[in-house]
Amino acid sequence: MSEPLVERMREFGTTVFATMTKLAVETGSINLGQGFPDTDGPERMLERAVEAIRSGANQYPPGPGVPELRQAVSEHRKEWYGLAYDADGEVLVTVGATEAITATVLALCEPGDEVIVFEPYYDSYSAAIALAGAVRKPVTLRVDDGRFTFDPAELAAAVGPRSRAILVNSPHNPTGTVFTRAELEAIAALCRERDLIAITDEVYEHLTFDDVEHIPLATLPGMRERTVMISSAGKTLSVTGWKTGWICAPPSLVRAVQTVKQFLTFTSGAPWQLAVAYGLREEMGWVAAQRAALEAKRDRLMAGLEAAGFDVLRPAGTYFVQTDIRPLGFSDGLDLCLRLPELAGVVAIPTQVFYDHPARGSHFVRFAFCKKDDVIDDAVTRLHRLSGLGGKIT
Ligand code: PMP
Ligand code: GLN
Repeated sequence: MSEPLVERMREFGTTVFATMTKLAVETGSINLGQGFPDTDGPERMLERAVEAIRSGANQYPPGPGVPELRQAVSEHRKEWYGLAYDADGEVLVTVGATEAITATVLALCEPGDEVIVFEPYYDSYSAAIALAGAVRKPVTLRVDDGRFTFDPAELAAAVGPRSRAILVNSPHNPTGTVFTRAELEAIAALCRERDLIAITDEVYEHLTFDDVEHIPLATLPGMRERTVMISSAGKTLSVTGWKTGWICAPPSLVRAVQTVKQFLTFTSGAPWQLAVAYGLREEMGWVAAQRAALEAKRDRLMAGLEAAGFDVLRPAGTYFVQTDIRPLGFSDGLDLCLRLPELAGVVAIPTQVFYDHPARGSHFVRFAFCKKDDVIDDAVTRLHRLSGLGGKIT
């Protein structure tokens, strides 16, 4: 049979996260690649999911999500950001942020419409844009003063007559950048002037460090009415396997996304929705402690990677660190990551796979620090084996 996969999806093989996790399992390496915590979310929230199953929350929940979760999301937005979203009509529960992003792009973009993304970009963005038959317009984040940022002139130049939306991820995976108010103002001004919809991926909203504040784009003037704000319980409450996310947006945008979402999955797991509602209401103290613990893990991994010879960029958010591999004598991150299990017994993510212009990211490798301290320490000890190898191996 000739290639059965539709043409627009052919550039997408298996995701880098699945590939690298498989490599870690097969080689018995420490997995600092795929970003998932190796500890559980808050105990009482887990209990709440068990209770929900035992007490019969086992049939289809309503399409927009259980009222308890929509209400909890609405309260959370108000309390943290001063944003008022009506739980009835302005909140939609999704199967993680991934479905929220894909359903939003499918709902709002016609074939041929352009979607602006900052590269390196989270891998599902390009696939969602391709599924819609839309066109991605990358704007490259470059390192300036120790953090990845963009040139506002380059961003403005990327907007054309077919531009429909901009996908904004802050805190940003894979770079760890948290956009400043000035950066967000530049994005917002462009959205207002050129009538763009903003799709914001805020899954790391509570994972910022060094007193850096996460500012939702929807809080800027004129932005609430043109923003689809997306988040998820996976990172905030350490339950990436529950795949429970949501969007908040004005009613017409929510209706559009729901029209698509209902035929992708209709709805998502009832027990998780009830437990996450509890988590958002009762466990934000746990989230604060988790954030502090992650900050210490960031510092631990950064110090270790520096001692092992990497140039390390300090992330202001997420649970990823970017490293420059050139001081170790390597130049190609993909090549290094494929050999890292054999060279050091560690798995990491080559940043270049998140670019339309891979050469711009070829010397960066991403390591995750959402792991137990002894796992981080063990990985760092192993990575010391790299020193002296760069340039010598073929
Ligand atoms: N966006 C970003 C930036 C991510 O890192 C991830 C992975 N956690 C997702 C979206 C997907 O989130 P979820 O697991 O809730 O679908
Ligand atoms: N968001 C996670 C990461 O960036 C991976 C999610 C996935 O495996 N699709 O590592």
